[in-house]
Amino acid sequence: MATFVQKFGGTSVGDPKRIARCAARVKQRRDEGHDIVVVVSAMGQTTDELIELAERVNDKAPRRELDMLMATGEQVSVALFSMALEKIGVPATSLTGGQAGVSTDGMFGRARVTRVSRERLDREIALRRVPVVCGFQGLSADGEVTTLGRGGSDTTAVALAAALQIAEHGGSCEIFTDVDGVYTADPRLVPSASKLARISYEEMLELALLGAQVMHPRAVLFGERYGVPIHVRHSQRTETGTLICRETPDMEDVMVVGAALKADLGRVSLRRIPNNPGMQGMLFEAVAKAGILVDDIVQTEFGEMASISFTVDHSELADVKIAASQVLDRVGTGELAIEIGLSKVSVVGTGMKSHVGVASRMFTALGNAGISIHNITTSEIKISCIVGKEHGQRALAIAHEAFGLDRLGAAQAAGTAG
Ligand code: ADP
Ligand code: ASP
Ligand code: MG
Repeated sequence: MATFVQKFGGTSVGDPKRIARCAARVKQRRDEGHDIVVVVSAMGQTTDELIELAERVNDKAPRRELDMLMATGEQVSVALFSMALEKIGVPATSLTGGQAGVSTDGMFGRARVTRVSRERLDREIALRRVPVVCGFQGLSADGEVTTLGRGGSDTTAVALAAALQIAEHGGSCEIFTDVDGVYTADPRLVPSASKLARISYEEMLELALLGAQVMHPRAVLFGERYGVPIHVRHSQRTETGTLICRETPDMEDVMVVGAALKADLGRVSLRRIPNNPGMQGMLFEAVAKAGILVDDIVQTEFGEMASISFTVDHSELADVKIAASQVLDRVGTGELAIEIGLSKVSVVGTGMKSHVGVASRMFTALGNAGISIHNITTSEIKISCIVGKEHGQRALAIAHEAFGLDRLGAAQAAGTAG
């Protein structure tokens, strides 16, 4: 007998009918003789609606109160999901993140899971009950309700799966969503994208960080760290889906497995600032203190002076402007420039470590399409280009085509990828 953690996303539990179908899925696994822990997201667009509601009351709402509010979305769905399970004869107990043993740090809005204690889950399982846990939320050491960042229910699921050591007895963490697996690009943006049979944690993590919303980045990190097999599947269909797993040697044969888009970025530049020791530390400490997530950083030097540019999500621009202006005031010289309307298109693949010509293929394809590249960043397994927002989606499709990604899914399935 194995333990399965089954996570159901917002669309999958968007109305009573869908909740009933997901509950039937849980019953089916349980009837095979396995122990099940369920993790659920807020129904449909609930989290967005709660944020909008808060904005109408106070557009500078304290982050603590925002977390308290957002956490209610998942509470609605766990209660309803448990009721749906009870209705079909499966004893179930709904639990908040805190009740389920999810401890976090105190960073409201983007808290990190620091520990999962499994006692309560074990107790429910021992009673043959199915714990139905609120995704996306935890409890800080001060007893505060925290949330894990948008899309964070995936992280709750994988963190619980790690704590329960599900891999030891052949279990897995099933991420049920509104798409039947991980595709070579977001199928909503690139209709020719193909479904991957498997992808390494490392590649999935990069894709998630670069904009592939299908998995929360921290969920993938937990999966890798604790060896949790993650199975991404459609909640209303029965196809096999995609397995996120450790890298195998043959994965290096494929140069690029996926492309991703961050659609709306802004670029912040501090120009002509003195390149004194500690300058960069001071700037990014101020940015970090303001709780701003920085994307790529580029520095250029001219003699004693430097210019530093970094990209951030569009939503962070107001906060970053304040933090960067304060730094410039302290420095007493230099100028601040903010550009909006940028996108980042990236390709990812473990095979880049051992293949040459990946960068040139991407740049040439974008160039042939008449798209200017405003900035380039690379790592061992990714290449990213900043382009004008108006070109973002087309650039994604071009990069996808340049690496033949529409055929990769079929090639993987036939064992001829690479
Ligand atoms: P859930 O509410 O189930 O967590 P999400 O909306 O967070 O679902 O994630 C699923 C969505 O992720 C899909 O509908 C799809 O549009 C998007 N997506 C982005 N990149 C990818 C990708 N590479 N493969 C599959 N889906 C992707
Ligand atoms: N409900 C949260 C959100 O919309 C968490 C999640 O869906 O994973 O971001
Ligand atoms: Mg999600």
